[in-house]
Amino acid sequence: MDYLESLNEPQRAAVVNTEGPTMIIAGAGSGKTRVLTYRIAYLIQSKGVDPFNILALTFTNKAAKEMRNRIEKVVGTEARNLWMGTFHSVFARILRAEASKIGFQSNFTIYDTDDSKSLIKHILKESGLDEKVYKPGMVLSRISGAKNRLVSWRDYMENPAIQAEDEAAAKPHMGKIYKAYVERCFKSDAMDFDDLLFNTNVLFREHPAVLNKYQHRFHYVLVDEFQDTNFSQYLITKKLASVRRNICIVGDDAQSIYAFRGADIQNILNFEKDFDDAQIFKLEQNYRSTKNIINVANSVISKNKAQLKKNIWTANTDGHLVEVIKAASDQEEGRLVSYAIFEQKNNNHLRYSDFVILYRTNSQSRAMEEALRKQNIKYKIIGGLSFYQRKEIKDLIAYMRYTINYNDEQAFRRIVNLPKRGIGDTSQDKLVVTAYERGISIWDVLNDAHSFFSGRTANALTSFADMIKGFRLEADRKDAFEAASHIARGSGLLRELYEDKTIEGLNRYENVQELLNAMQEFVHNPETEDKSLGAFLQEVALLTSNDDNKDEDQDYVTLMTIHMAKGLEFPYVYAVGMEEDLFPSQMMLGSRQDLEEERRLFYVAITRAMHKLTLSYALTRYRFGRLKNCEPSRFLEEIDPAYMMINKKVGSRSPVGDTEHARILLKSIKRDRNTTSARKQTHQPDADFAPSDTSQLQEGMKVEHPKFGFGTVKGIETEGANRKAKVDFEQAGEKTLLLSFAKLKIHE
Ligand code: ATP
Ligand code: MG
Repeated sequence: MDYLESLNEPQRAAVVNTEGPTMIIAGAGSGKTRVLTYRIAYLIQSKGVDPFNILALTFTNKAAKEMRNRIEKVVGTEARNLWMGTFHSVFARILRAEASKIGFQSNFTIYDTDDSKSLIKHILKESGLDEKVYKPGMVLSRISGAKNRLVSWRDYMENPAIQAEDEAAAKPHMGKIYKAYVERCFKSDAMDFDDLLFNTNVLFREHPAVLNKYQHRFHYVLVDEFQDTNFSQYLITKKLASVRRNICIVGDDAQSIYAFRGADIQNILNFEKDFDDAQIFKLEQNYRSTKNIINVANSVISKNKAQLKKNIWTANTDGHLVEVIKAASDQEEGRLVSYAIFEQKNNNHLRYSDFVILYRTNSQSRAMEEALRKQNIKYKIIGGLSFYQRKEIKDLIAYMRYTINYNDEQAFRRIVNLPKRGIGDTSQDKLVVTAYERGISIWDVLNDAHSFFSGRTANALTSFADMIKGFRLEADRKDAFEAASHIARGSGLLRELYEDKTIEGLNRYENVQELLNAMQEFVHNPETEDKSLGAFLQEVALLTSNDDNKDEDQDYVTLMTIHMAKGLEFPYVYAVGMEEDLFPSQMMLGSRQDLEEERRLFYVAITRAMHKLTLSYALTRYRFGRLKNCEPSRFLEEIDPAYMMINKKVGSRSPVGDTEHARILLKSIKRDRNTTSARKQTHQPDADFAPSDTSQLQEGMKVEHPKFGFGTVKGIETEGANRKAKVDFEQAGEKTLLLSFAKLKIHE
């Protein structure tokens, strides 16, 4: 049993003590995921547990796949029978099996954010509400927040505190929108991502027999990255494990980075309360990173007040000092980073896949991409606009969705006039309204088009319905690939793309072919049990944005946001854009909690690095279409200078170990911070400056801030209890201010 030998003492103890509630809260790179993986292997191999009785929940499908492969190496192909995946994919599978119990069809559609946004827009339009006040993205995140706390639309509307919040934010109709949204999803036989968890909770609450079945199916429940679970997820795991009580949670509170989406560190404390006999294992040795990197990580995270005390050390070598690159502009930053990668790779005979560039927001990738392209370095962006987000792919998938689920309103809207069939927006709106007024489905109206529409429109609608019925016949009889090929041809989509001979058109045609290739692979994959179109659609809907792992053996630099990098490791890490307002993000400066979440995010970035960490910042950067002066991030100052080295220009690198340079560097960072601050602070308010009551603050008003000077309000947003104003200051540029803190004087 050599895998047990590849573990240290506490890790081994955490693997072999399989019974009862177990908690492993330990620092980055200490082998938590490894322990979880081998615990499962051990259960199967040494305890004879049937893989069908093990449920393991991971952060991405990719992480699940990697874990499965490792377990397979120990126990063989049996590992395929494990219930393993993200919360969303596992519970979508269960919901499919039990859908009828909560009034859904088993082939329900899973709406992505675009579908949800477009549905919200339709609802706003129909209710005569202003999209500028009820911004669809904001409405959705409010609904999502409620669902993750298991607040139904009814609870929402009946809760005086929530109602008061919406009134105060001048959005009193939020509850009504929430209700309409839920009803429309239900009518469309559709669930959004949050519904997959919300409805699982409903299913388990209202059908004790179903809950009981799964409680007895899963003898062992294991959860990785537990610190990022939300309340809804926590309740599901707790319920499932409450009979056999073999639940093992693994995580690191210092890496909790999804509070903004409802994840709650409180769940760790709840776990200790709900399972007060839990065995606790401590892992303190980091195997991933060099001493210098661990020291930097520790020095940064120690600035956070809210954290469970943990000790992390490593037996690895000191390694390189952390390097800081200072650039004059974002373009120069891109150039210096790509050159450093190029040089490092060649000098040390590395592969590009040894490098990752991490940033705070997706929009930062553009400058990096340009520089990498100029340097002829292959790269791949994870989690940007993924393959499945492309228009032509979404179009074809919408056809497939509608073929499988006639109630899917968003898919219907997308395809009914694509390619053009003379069924415009007016006819579509009339169709939807007719359906709702008569309490029948859109599909019923379509099939009786001549009763509601005249002449050409009625004919067009009837032949559209006939075409879809033909597709359904194919889908019922054939596998996903054959059905999709038929749909691509029969719908006219493929022909339309084929006839477009522009480069973009050609590209789109190839993308559709690529989708069909992927479907052929799906059908031929021996692991695919259900080869139907419905099964394929479910798999696609549940892809997480870093699952796209084509070209696995090609050599490229990876680019992604820090959020995406959770749980991963790379020999060489570049964290770029280390500037105030960017990282920490200006949206997160309002409270200590928010700032601490940003700091944990920085901790995650640092601890991805195995051999070397490089940080970079620029003194000017284009943001929102404007050139802005940037101040180096406060996080740079928080690093103990003993572990840093300077690199102003590539080529004049100082030798490793020369901490004198670090001191100079720190001075230089401080100077950059002071001069930018000084520039920003030139505003002198009048002696009688007094902040106004901002409860009536509106877009377009002129305001004065004691530090940033005069500006115009560009927008007001409400997130939870927080009201924020986006203000364009004449001197200091655009800022988002939390109104409960910001001292603003209204001048108009
Ligand atoms: P994170 O907090 O980032 O999720 P983690 O605690 O899950 O990290 P792992 O990813 O499991 O840590 O392990 C980090 C690295 O250390 C991996 O490359 C793993 O293979 C290696 N590792 C873990 N334990 C040992 C060990 N006992 N001996 C050798 N290598 C180990
Ligand atoms: Mg891990």
